[in-house]
Amino acid sequence: MEQAKHTPICPKCGYDQRGEIATWESVCPVEGRCPECGLGFAWRDIFDPVRMELGWNVEHAHSLWEMFKRTPRTLLRLMIPYFYWRSVGVETPIRLWVLVRWQVLFSLVLHLLVSIPYGMGIWNRSSIQAYGSLGELFNQTGWKGLLVPFVNAIAYPWVSLEISYKNNSFSIWYPASQGGGLSSLFGPVFLLMGMVLLWAIVMLAIPVTRRQAKLRARHVVRAALISGLAMLFAYQGSRLAEGIDEWTRVGLMLNNIYQGLFGAVVMPALVLWLMMFWWFAVITGWKVRPCSAIIVLGTVASLLGGVVLLYVASMLFGWY
Ligand SMILES: [Zn+2]
Repeated sequence: MEQAKHTPICPKCGYDQRGEIATWESVCPVEGRCPECGLGFAWRDIFDPVRMELGWNVEHAHSLWEMFKRTPRTLLRLMIPYFYWRSVGVETPIRLWVLVRWQVLFSLVLHLLVSIPYGMGIWNRSSIQAYGSLGELFNQTGWKGLLVPFVNAIAYPWVSLEISYKNNSFSIWYPASQGGGLSSLFGPVFLLMGMVLLWAIVMLAIPVTRRQAKLRARHVVRAALISGLAMLFAYQGSRLAEGIDEWTRVGLMLNNIYQGLFGAVVMPALVLWLMMFWWFAVITGWKVRPCSAIIVLGTVASLLGGVVLLYVASMLFGWY
């Protein structure tokens, strides 16, 4: 096992370097070059990749606490993709499962945080508002009734509990399965998902670009996972906007100010961020040369992919 773990491979393309090492005679060189992709490296980094872990990166956290501490610094670098990819190169160790674990935890925490304003908005709009306050709701319906606003704040539109003011009767329904009207919440997610998928396909599945980039698939998976964060921010951003709009509504008037702001400012910014993330991955992180053809192909394909997936989703779910 130990043997397999330390098989010396090229960090960029994965080429097995044992053949190269077998040519060494009396002295061991300090510097090397991968015969497959041409990457130059220091041999000690090939034998001991842990040396290349980064102190700020959640991907290289060794505990939950470290992950927590590194989250702000990682997000800060990610905001300007160039700063992220300037530090994360092909020789930076890849820990996909740490990334996945972090993303699950981060999504949960962000979801709960956004559930507070979202829940206030739901209270304003739904039948529970008729009870006037949480205390009154509890007096009339007991603990079961008190569940309604909290469950809805967290689980709407996947699960929604309804309560009838007339006879305090409960019902449960699933708005998300009924489609209509949820395009503002899920549309942006599908658009960004299509963009991520198409970038990954361009880098991995098209033989010409694949041959030119000479990248291990894990590099692309890492980029896809991280750029997928845009989907999380779109989903939670649109929940936040919807929640605040409902929360701040006056009477029956709903101004959609924050949802408008989300559509006009936040969404275009996320699309641009996602695009820049992949541009800098190719140019700065992976140092693919020449790169202009891949950049153009990836950009066009990902925009098309995003629009197509959004269109397919809206047909499937009957949004428009
Ligand atoms: Zn290589």
